[in-house]
Amino acid sequence: MSGYDVAVIGAGVMGCSTALFLARGGMRVVLLDRGMLSREASGVNAGTLTMNMTRAALIPYALRGWEMWTQAAGWLGHSAGVLVTDGLSLAFTDAEAALLEARAQARQQAGAPIALITPAQARAIEPGLAETVCLAAHCPIDGYATAYVTGRAFRAALVEAGVEIREQCPVRGLAPAAGGYAVRAGGDALLARRIVLAGGVWIEEMLGWLDLAIPIKVLVNQLIVTERMRPVMRTVLSIANGLLSLKQFANGTVLVGGGWQGVGDRTRGGVAAIPENLIGNLRLARWVIPALAEARILRIWLGLESEVADAMPMLGPIPGHPGAFVIGTAHSGYTSGPFMGRLLAQVMLGQEPELPLFPPDRLLAGSFSRGEVAA
Ligand SMILES: Cc1cc2nc3c(=O)[nH]c(=O)nc-3n(C[C@H](O)[C@H](O)[C@H](O)COP(=O)(O)OP(=O)(O)OC[C@H]3O[C@@H](n4cnc5c(N)ncnc54)[C@H](O)[C@@H]3O)c2cc1C
Repeated sequence: MSGYDVAVIGAGVMGCSTALFLARGGMRVVLLDRGMLSREASGVNAGTLTMNMTRAALIPYALRGWEMWTQAAGWLGHSAGVLVTDGLSLAFTDAEAALLEARAQARQQAGAPIALITPAQARAIEPGLAETVCLAAHCPIDGYATAYVTGRAFRAALVEAGVEIREQCPVRGLAPAAGGYAVRAGGDALLARRIVLAGGVWIEEMLGWLDLAIPIKVLVNQLIVTERMRPVMRTVLSIANGLLSLKQFANGTVLVGGGWQGVGDRTRGGVAAIPENLIGNLRLARWVIPALAEARILRIWLGLESEVADAMPMLGPIPGHPGAFVIGTAHSGYTSGPFMGRLLAQVMLGQEPELPLFPPDRLLAGSFSRGEVAA
């Protein structure tokens, strides 16, 4: 069969890093996206590279991802504007303190260098913190990237590695072909021995091309950025429930990420902000850093994050479809993304993966094929 060794469908951080490591491993790779490189979740996220906000089971992956992002100039050849700083997760009530203790302990056990500290210690690290903090979890290896440069950071490396990039090229379906798959992309059908489905919240539709059903929940994350203001904070802050994150960039703008969500599904134009929730997120941000009362909002935007039933990643071979693989649905997936791509590439190149994968088989147990539904 002529054509490509691999077609990677979806060029977010998961697809870009998988494509890069496969090409460096000697495969002929085509990377397809219906838009531009990393302009969905991977280009619009809050960029936090975090242990405090990562699920305990994913800490070993996030630690390696954090290391990769902070050393991107080496392996990627280009920086994604990463700044390393302290991370603080905060509790304001007894219930939040209990939650914070349990979460910090689980993350410590998984290898994160997180320590519980007193309010006075937290304020020594972040002087702008509210007096009402009652407990904090400190992680010295936190930080953030500038997410909107993700595609630019990957592009040159992908080109250098020989990956053929096809942007503005929506994939509409797949069919088994001799020794691989025929991929219907744009006006073409291209042949590839292996395929990688890396479509973020759109993986559900992609699995449908293979007649598999794994429901993917869509989280509509709301982000708020302020106008430039005087320095009011230097760390990455989150609340004990792990949802809201706060950081101030070098240019003075403050990013308020996560928190209460917007509404919608994964169709274009199908998502909307919920103003009351945006106001709630701002109130919470001001509660954490009182000086944010001076902030003026510049703009807000929405981004879509994916989650499967057990809230863990899908990373590995797709059962019943030789040569087909899936990567995505990881919480804090920007942090661990480059490492997850490297892991999948290791397996596809016949190497021993550094850490275990998350095969999607577990999610198919009670699932059905579209054929069965139709019947
Ligand atoms: C607002 C927001 C804030 C977040 N904040 C953080 C954070 O601070 N820290 C953190 O670690 N994580 C964060 N995340 C999570 C993180 O952004 C995601 O886990 C990660 O970017 C997912 O990468 P991905 O490559 O799987 O998906 P995406 O980046 O969504 O990429 C999927 C790609 O598939 C393409 N595609 C879809 N359908 C087709 C098709 N038919 N044909 C061709 N291409 C197709 C899309 O165009 C898209 O480019 C946040 C997410 C959001 C949305």
